[in-house]
Amino acid sequence: MQEHLKQPIFKTLSKVADELQLETYVIGGFVRDIILKRPSKDIDIVCVGSGIDLAKAVAKTLEVKKVSVFKNYGTAMITYQGWEVEFVGARKESYDRGSRKPVVEDGTLEDDQNRRDFSINAMAICLNKERFGELVDPFNGIKDCENKIIRTPLEPKVTFSDDPLRMMRAIRFATQLNFTIEDKTYIALHTEKDRITIISQERITDELNKIILSSVPSIGFNHLFDTGLLHHFFPEIVKLHGVEMRNGLGHKDNFYHTLQVLDNICPNTNNLWLRWAAILHDIAKPPTKRFDPKQGWTFHGHEDRGARMVPEIFKKLKLPLDAKMKYVQKLVRLHLRPIALVKESVTDSAVRRLLVEAGEDVDDLMLLCSADITTKNEKKLKKYKKNFILVEEKLKEVEEKDHLRNWQPPISGEDIMATFGIGPSKEVGQIKNAIKEAMLEGEIQNNEAEARVFMHRLGSKMGLKLV
Ligand code: ATP
Repeated sequence: MQEHLKQPIFKTLSKVADELQLETYVIGGFVRDIILKRPSKDIDIVCVGSGIDLAKAVAKTLEVKKVSVFKNYGTAMITYQGWEVEFVGARKESYDRGSRKPVVEDGTLEDDQNRRDFSINAMAICLNKERFGELVDPFNGIKDCENKIIRTPLEPKVTFSDDPLRMMRAIRFATQLNFTIEDKTYIALHTEKDRITIISQERITDELNKIILSSVPSIGFNHLFDTGLLHHFFPEIVKLHGVEMRNGLGHKDNFYHTLQVLDNICPNTNNLWLRWAAILHDIAKPPTKRFDPKQGWTFHGHEDRGARMVPEIFKKLKLPLDAKMKYVQKLVRLHLRPIALVKESVTDSAVRRLLVEAGEDVDDLMLLCSADITTKNEKKLKKYKKNFILVEEKLKEVEEKDHLRNWQPPISGEDIMATFGIGPSKEVGQIKNAIKEAMLEGEIQNNEAEARVFMHRLGSKMGLKLV
């Protein structure tokens, strides 16, 4: 611990705090992360007095020009040599049931530690010279770090009811740190789950995304499901849970399958949106589920229906409705295609079609597709993996030959109009599409010269004249 406090910034903090005669501590996540040996660049400083005054004085000593002051919250922030240092005066909080906005008063360090969410986040280290490096750990956070336990400092029901976002945070930390949630705290997650409704969706989604970006996100999703929190804000995924039996035939539990796909993709990507595509790839299985006495359970069209569900889900979860959403939609829509290729004995034209549709996202699509292979049946697994490699090779081969990634039509609509002296019309679209089809089917190569000859011949068949 002393090692970390040797950083010059702590020397300055200590000196300035003593000059202003302010009892000052580094607190919260930074202390926890020192103990857990996780790198951290965010330092939270709490002093018994004005955090803003301390921030200004520290900034002056360090010759930092900009101090961001948030008067309403009594906080201030500076950045220095890659550190982000936030200052606040120690405070006491009391809550009203209707909101998560507490009544705040000045308080002691003890008051401030009492308002913290978990024992591991409530530890403080004194920075004043006389007590420099002394750990103040009233809830035995250090032991909880050792035993890997998430526990609220005070009565968990009250802690969660006061600020229900803490329920999401409990599950987020359990997932990020691979910690166990202590029993009483866990029970309170069940009993207080309905209080989550007073939290804004943006904040919930922020925590959910942190869970998704962890190395094993299924830990968090299982907790969210088991406590009933997930049902409040993401009912579509909850509907994937369960197995229906008919004529002695069941289908797989698509909730646990989805979590497995999500976990599978994590070692291969930190792209949040690719992880979201894994979460949503089978989202339309419940509304497309049918039982056919001959075929058993089917989910025909779940990929298209799922892609159509994406905007609505993104909107509800306050995720961005921009290119990121379109990317997720595309991957959901195409997720069956690489494997379907094998069943159709991998023709060049099918591979070209996939390359043109997936465009620059084809590698991500292949990652999703590979993660989607979750069968426990050794024989099937071997077969799928073999087929998958076949598709990969074929994609590479066709790509090298035809350069179809980021394919653009070799002849534009304007060019077609100018060639035949026609205005915008149905014919222009027909010619453009026919050129694309001819290229996909391998009748012409993917280049302008061949496309132009093809266009001339087609135009004359359609009765158009060259100008
Ligand atoms: P990370 O940086 O990984 O999000 P962190 O613990 O630093 O972890 P912050 O959200 O930056 O998380 O919070 C800083 C500290 O403030 C926490 O360690 C905790 O002591 C306290 N805190 C944050 N949010 C809450 C909350 N909702 N209720 C109580 N204490 C909180």
